[in-house]
Amino acid sequence: MSYFMSEKKVRVRFAPSPTGALHIGGVRTALYNFLFARRHGGRLILRIEDTDSRRFVPGAEEYILESFKWLGITFDEGVSFGGDHGPYRQSERRDIYTTYVQALLDNGKAYIAFDTPEELEAKRNETANFQYDASTRMQMRNSLTLPAEEVNRLIAEGKQYVVRFKIDAGEDIHVGDLVRGDVVVNSSVLDDKVLFKSVDGLPTYHLANIVDDHLMEITHVIRGEEWLPSAPLHVLLYRALGWEDTMPAFAHLPLLLKPDGNGKLSKRDGDRLGFPVFPLQWKDPQTGEASSGYRESGYLPEAVLNFLALLGWNPGHDREIMSMDEMIESFDLARCSKSGAKFDYAKGIWFNHQYIQAKPDGEIAGMFLRILEEEGVTAAPDKVITVVGLTKERVDFVKELWDAARFFFVAPTAYDEKTVKKRWKEDSAKHMLELADVLDGIPGFTSGEQESAVMDWIAAEGYGAGGILNAFRLALVGEAKGPHLFDISWVLGKDETLARIKRAVETLR
Ligand code: GLU
Repeated sequence: MSYFMSEKKVRVRFAPSPTGALHIGGVRTALYNFLFARRHGGRLILRIEDTDSRRFVPGAEEYILESFKWLGITFDEGVSFGGDHGPYRQSERRDIYTTYVQALLDNGKAYIAFDTPEELEAKRNETANFQYDASTRMQMRNSLTLPAEEVNRLIAEGKQYVVRFKIDAGEDIHVGDLVRGDVVVNSSVLDDKVLFKSVDGLPTYHLANIVDDHLMEITHVIRGEEWLPSAPLHVLLYRALGWEDTMPAFAHLPLLLKPDGNGKLSKRDGDRLGFPVFPLQWKDPQTGEASSGYRESGYLPEAVLNFLALLGWNPGHDREIMSMDEMIESFDLARCSKSGAKFDYAKGIWFNHQYIQAKPDGEIAGMFLRILEEEGVTAAPDKVITVVGLTKERVDFVKELWDAARFFFVAPTAYDEKTVKKRWKEDSAKHMLELADVLDGIPGFTSGEQESAVMDWIAAEGYGAGGILNAFRLALVGEAKGPHLFDISWVLGKDETLARIKRAVETLR
């Protein structure tokens, strides 16, 4: 069978429920599906699992689509991508599910149950750890215990019912998991899961998920560990529907853990610990609560993907910076870990820093120009590119360039007090006026030309270089920071450099 499976064209899916913003763990699941599909020349499908109308959140589907667009994860089929296995939104597939619910009823693998919520509640109160299963179902009000005429009458009267899966007790169910190996669960621990509810005529997650995986010819189900407990049930459903031969392989990915490793990373951790857990910022339409996103926080999508790819997968070498093509090339589910992956947020920042350094200055300048605009600064693109080249190694985020490089565009109006105390000495004003004359007198104004003229003058006068250069930097920047000093004056140009020296002398005298 495995030979046959490997001959089949790989088809995987990402199947989010639109119940809110897409969690970063979901993004990692989608990424692994994407890498797997590309690695094997297969297809990636986006299916929206929206059969639970009570949990539907308006805007969530759009949010999911926009997130993947930003990240650059592309789907081959699915909601908004088209394809010949549609519709890909489960709420548009009602009739399809009804057919299979009926098939399960007809072949005795499922039954109709009329127990009301109150009756179930009473049962739970009466029996500790009550479970609706092989040991209890014959005490309940369902089509196994009621005469057929009564079942028909209740349905005709419009009584509400659910369809439950009839699970035989005492069988070991094997889930062949590509990450975890053979996972064995005894069917006695499973309850007779609800597959369909008459109240809205919709299937539950489990049935819709299996029917769609089958009809969409899914070969591998790659999803988060939280779905592992459902997998034995899914195996049984495949069998009950007679689809055992096309059962997909499973791969349950490790959990993402809090940065300290203590428990599962939650939505709350993000804003509590000061980092985003969503790709894009999100405002909950019900509560109005806002959560930050990677995009708005200034991350480059490539950095986010590279960071996420290594949370739970080991490429087999220790090169951490990997292009998408390299990740695809080496992606292997067998190299995913079983144990949870700590969400090391600082590492995410490190990745962003690396990607900023690797990006052409022109591209970063394009992003920085927008920030400059917001700050009310107009600057020539060429100058911005040069400034980016001189300062980007000092930042982790493009938006930090404003702080690191604003003095290139806006002259200091105040001088940092501590620096003044330390670096503006009694003779600094006199030295700066002489320096201005030296700089004014040189024919060229490149960084190198300035440097040699200034160093010659300092040597000839017998001055201390440190004191002069510190005061010069204070005059240009307003504080003790920035790249190589003569690079700053070169970018500022002669007029602006002389003007800043003059202003510092007047202000600090
Ligand atoms: N709709 C489920 C979710 O929201 C899909 C789980 C699966 O991939 O089977 O994650």
